[in-house]
Amino acid sequence: MLSIFKRSTQTSERQLRKYRKIVQQINKLEATYVDLSDEQLIAMTDTFKKRIQSGESLPSITPEAFAVVREASKRVLGMRHFDVQLIGGLVLTEGNIAEMPTGEGKTLVASLPSYVRALEGKGVHVITVNDYLAKRDYEQIGQIHRFLGLTVGLNVPMMQGPAKQAAYQADITYGVGTEFGFDYLRDNMAQQKSQHVQRPYHFAIIDEVDSILVDEAKTPLIVAGKMQADADLHHIAARLAKRFKKGIDFDFDDETKATSLTDAGIEKVEKAFGVDNLYDLEHQTLYHYMIQAVRAHVIFERDVDYIVRDGKIELVDMFTGRIMEGRTLSDGLHQAIEAKEGVPITEENKAQAQITIQNYFRMYPKLCGMTGTAKTQEKEFREVYGMEVIQIPTNRPRARIDSPDQVYATIDQKYKAMAKEVAERHEKGQPVLVGTTSILQSEKVVQYLDEYKLKYNLLNAKSVEQEVELISQAGQLGQITVATNMAGRGTDIVLGDGVEEVGGLFVLGTEKHENRRIDNQLRGRSGRQGDHGESRFFLSLEDDMFKRFAKDDLEKFLKKVKTDENGLVLNPEVDELTERTQRIVEGAHYSMREYNLKLDDVINDQREVVYALRDKVIEGEDVLDQLKTMLSETVEFVIYDSCPEDEMPENWDFSRIEQTMNALLLEPVSAPRTAEKTADIVKFYKEPLDDLLNYIDSFADNERVNKMIPQVMLSYIDTMWVKHLEVMTRLKEGIGLRSYGQEDPMRIYQREGLELFGRHYQKLRRNIASEVIGFMKLITEQQEVQ
Ligand code: ADP
Ligand code: MG
Repeated sequence: MLSIFKRSTQTSERQLRKYRKIVQQINKLEATYVDLSDEQLIAMTDTFKKRIQSGESLPSITPEAFAVVREASKRVLGMRHFDVQLIGGLVLTEGNIAEMPTGEGKTLVASLPSYVRALEGKGVHVITVNDYLAKRDYEQIGQIHRFLGLTVGLNVPMMQGPAKQAAYQADITYGVGTEFGFDYLRDNMAQQKSQHVQRPYHFAIIDEVDSILVDEAKTPLIVAGKMQADADLHHIAARLAKRFKKGIDFDFDDETKATSLTDAGIEKVEKAFGVDNLYDLEHQTLYHYMIQAVRAHVIFERDVDYIVRDGKIELVDMFTGRIMEGRTLSDGLHQAIEAKEGVPITEENKAQAQITIQNYFRMYPKLCGMTGTAKTQEKEFREVYGMEVIQIPTNRPRARIDSPDQVYATIDQKYKAMAKEVAERHEKGQPVLVGTTSILQSEKVVQYLDEYKLKYNLLNAKSVEQEVELISQAGQLGQITVATNMAGRGTDIVLGDGVEEVGGLFVLGTEKHENRRIDNQLRGRSGRQGDHGESRFFLSLEDDMFKRFAKDDLEKFLKKVKTDENGLVLNPEVDELTERTQRIVEGAHYSMREYNLKLDDVINDQREVVYALRDKVIEGEDVLDQLKTMLSETVEFVIYDSCPEDEMPENWDFSRIEQTMNALLLEPVSAPRTAEKTADIVKFYKEPLDDLLNYIDSFADNERVNKMIPQVMLSYIDTMWVKHLEVMTRLKEGIGLRSYGQEDPMRIYQREGLELFGRHYQKLRRNIASEVIGFMKLITEQQEVQ
């Protein structure tokens, strides 16, 4: 463990030397650019563009370009990039992750790589964690780029088509990651090329990259259509699920969240709904409702994962504690939770297109990112995205003290000590930020604070704007702020007058998060730009993390535990226990993301095939040619599939060939039942197939047909893709069911997924061919009648 850690730090040191040399170059250029007039400085943009076009490499232009951006920033914003910010910019330009603590000015850092990579004229996307920050950065940093003659766009939800297209046409486009992902999905549902808003991907800079690529990775982006849900079914399923017991009625895998019913569970369901065999295909929906009802019970906890407000289920972002406005779970899960809570059942979302944020960003030829906390996730960034994490030194030496944890025997003792500490700090005027891991915990915390009659700001379920407002006040004298760990991420906490003297902002953590990175984020709220500050975590041996992930270790530890009169654990080994447990949890979560990514890869490959086909249609590439290819492939497939070369001819299915072929061909023909080789069958059909192909060609100038073909193609591609997605979801749910066998569930999923897709794709081509040819024949008939 230690050796890996050492190695990675060393790499950073060596690389830093390389960057420092370039920074020297940039600093030397400063004198030259200071003397330029605004016009001369602006003209540099065109000069750079021309040099790139004539083949000069980016690294050769970068020092000059950085010097120009710095000079522009001085003139426009009055901010001069610190040397460490230049280093950060270099790391980003190369496509890596710059780890820079909060307050180091990452927003300004992004002005450098976005300028350099925008010079290539292919668009740069700057991704932020919320719309508020996107707008802020677009307005502020955008000034530098606009001054230098580049165009800057803002991409936010609900924008109309042309406005969005304009935003994407800009040299640099700001926006939230999810919106870029949704635009991708919507572009791939468009009926015409003119509706596309995105250009081919070039370069993306992701702010708070860990939050976007790691924390958000669990929820896929889904574009959904509405579908009436069966409320009665949901209610019965919910009532039943309430009485179900884990291990008796159902099995649930904590890691993969795979849920399945046991035989006992199935029997109960069959009784409750009065069906004989739940496994029958006709009861597939019922089974699905039941599984979702169980999942609504075991995975989703009220006031942690969601809240009930005005008769509605509102999802809570577990990292920010913020309500995810308008986000719903798909596939009937949302309705299952509604049934569990007895609120009205809403319409169900049916996925029409979906992608994970991870896979969306993997489509960019080059990615980079910045955050205060990436090093603990280094391996994942390297393996999944090919980005290295480089730690950038701070501009000023860090003055924050990270005090050792205080661990108490019970939760009650922990909160009591916490409240006492807050009161003491408050007494001398020091601002305190209490970080929690959930809304529920926040509420618990304030109950204890109430006993001291303390005044505090509670940041639960607030809008982004309110949150930013409250968090930005957290550094004022005497303020007490209670918020979930991630609330107001990206917001500057500026210290008020006299706060330095009382020790700066005191950050108090009330529970270790399942990921050390999130704890570091919380600590990082204090001590920006060399400010004074302190952080400390208050834990208890009754905390969820220990109970869930360190049962055995905890039992052993409890036997030898010594505490003082307040319940404070005195054994020094307690720190080891905390750290080990956190590592275990991180490992478990990492493998889960890895597992999900592998699952998603299966769909991802399929999506690429389908979208590529769709693109061809939308691009208006010769549709008759495409149709002919589909037809020929369909014919070949049905022949080889019905009469495989490695089967005895007596087992061949000639009637299937006949059926498919006669639906397509101009004149029906009997299949060559005496054939002994598959190739002979192919040969037999060559002539009628050629006739058909010629017939298709005869429509080359027929406007009606040429207009109709792409519509038919898109309609089949889309509707069948939605169905296929559903089938794949069922398959995914089902593999949990069969994992008891010898085979690895992942392998089953990959194999059967491929098989299902093969069938889907085949059916798609056949449906399109037969529909279009049918239409052509109809036109011919009409003409004959006339
Ligand atoms: P981070 O994202 O790294 O937490 P921000 O980008 O929010 O930091 O910047 C924190 C504050 O520092 C902002 O108020 C910003 O304007 C200021 N700042 C950043 N860089 C500079 C600089 N070079 N000179 C002066 N102020 C700066
Ligand atoms: Mg920031």
